[in-house]
Amino acid sequence: MKPKNFNGVTVIGGGLAGCEAAFQLSLQKIPVQLIEMKPKKFTPAHKSSNLAELVCSNSLKSDSIDKAAGILKNEMIKLKSLVLEAAYKNKVSAGGALAVDREKFAQYITNKIYNNDYIEVINEEATEINFNNTNLIIIATGPMTSNSLAEEIENFIGMKSLAFYDSISPIVLYDSLDRSQFFKASRYEDGEGDYINCPLTKVEYVNFIESLNSAEKIDFHKFENPNYFEGCLPIEEMASRGLDTLRFGPMKPVGLTDPKTARRPYAVLQLRKENEAETMWNLVGFQTKMKIGDQKKVFSIIPALKNAEFLRFGSIHRNTYINSPGKIKNTLQAESNEKVFFAGQITGVEGYTESAAMGIVAGINAGRAFNKKPLYSFTKFSALGILLDYISNANSKELQPMNINLGLFGIEKPKKNIQIIQNNSKKAIDDFINREKYV
Ligand SMILES: Cc1cc2nc3c(=O)[nH]c(=O)nc-3n(C[C@H](O)[C@H](O)[C@H](O)COP(=O)(O)OP(=O)(O)OC[C@H]3O[C@@H](n4cnc5c(N)ncnc54)[C@H](O)[C@@H]3O)c2cc1C
Repeated sequence: MKPKNFNGVTVIGGGLAGCEAAFQLSLQKIPVQLIEMKPKKFTPAHKSSNLAELVCSNSLKSDSIDKAAGILKNEMIKLKSLVLEAAYKNKVSAGGALAVDREKFAQYITNKIYNNDYIEVINEEATEINFNNTNLIIIATGPMTSNSLAEEIENFIGMKSLAFYDSISPIVLYDSLDRSQFFKASRYEDGEGDYINCPLTKVEYVNFIESLNSAEKIDFHKFENPNYFEGCLPIEEMASRGLDTLRFGPMKPVGLTDPKTARRPYAVLQLRKENEAETMWNLVGFQTKMKIGDQKKVFSIIPALKNAEFLRFGSIHRNTYINSPGKIKNTLQAESNEKVFFAGQITGVEGYTESAAMGIVAGINAGRAFNKKPLYSFTKFSALGILLDYISNANSKELQPMNINLGLFGIEKPKKNIQIIQNNSKKAIDDFINREKYV
């Protein structure tokens, strides 16, 4: 794109994040060019010519402040989220979830954006990032970013830093594990190691494999055609290759001795810590396409996980996202070019609300950059700050996209201590709004 005589911020992608970012910039009275390729060109998942299309479910998850998703929503509402304004105006009843009439929801946002004096919508595919242009850019092209732009982003952030499929293992809450059924150890090392090891007897293992084989799996979309790396196979694919495949793969017991039996277990599921506070533990190598209900059922066969609470379920799907640590700062500014910001699912968050939330932050910070103010880092006391910290500093070498969840807050027994989390969140956002006199 070659915007001429334009002094403002260019936002690429008119999805949930792009619309939030553009709207936040307009609140700061900053001109925006919003570049959206629809209706000229559609990704394989988008069908409507409206902006802010919900490509699958019509639910934005819970809005109860006793849930992490509700705490995040509360923060977004304080920051004048357009997505949540549209959601509440077009809500349909769905128990504890905030579900919407998707057509009316998208139409509401489309009208608000098109009628906004600060925003000009340009219906073009962006195929390059124009670095010669003096304007700031927010890239919010989502999990289905068009190929030519994806290539350009890959060149910009560095080869092998852009993923096209996510391969996600479930995460469980530490407090929900049965401590009498696991031991801590690292393979081939004495003493208490870094891993939680969940042993299975032969009977339990066989039962686990049989249940895995008969569990319901989610089909890939027509446009998805993942060629799995052998190191990244879903566990059900491994199980279908033979009874012992998992026992020689991610469930191998070698180098481990169960202190209860003083013997090597028949098979082991290892859990690796996901955060410093050790509240969240990742099921190592357990990426899966099982339906969520079946994930709960099948994993509960593993004794330590009998009553496990899942903070994130496993999944594998088409998803263009950046391996953000070292590439994107917690302000959503690119490490290598201060004119470029990223927003939405492409930053490594997962979910409609989380993507929109990243749009708000990118809009706030690109606005501050435009006004030559220092960028704002939301603290880890807020849900926004927790997500930003995760994507910019995740422990693992390969970032696995993350939804907001209570485990991320790093507080012991987060459900019991929910009030602390709620108060911290409220104070963190109020501080930002009051101190920075934000809109
Ligand atoms: C198939 C699928 C199903 C999903 N289902 C759910 C779900 O049920 N619940 C949930 O919470 N999350 C779901 N997600 C994850 C995620 O929350 C959504 O994809 C969410 O819409 C991401 O928001 P976004 O703003 O980052 O991207 P999007 O909402 O996808 O917006 C990106 C926009 O950029 C445009 N664009 C792309 N490339 C270019 C370009 N080169 N130039 C100009 N415009 C461009 C696209 O047309 C699109 O309008 C799903 C993801 C996928 C891929």
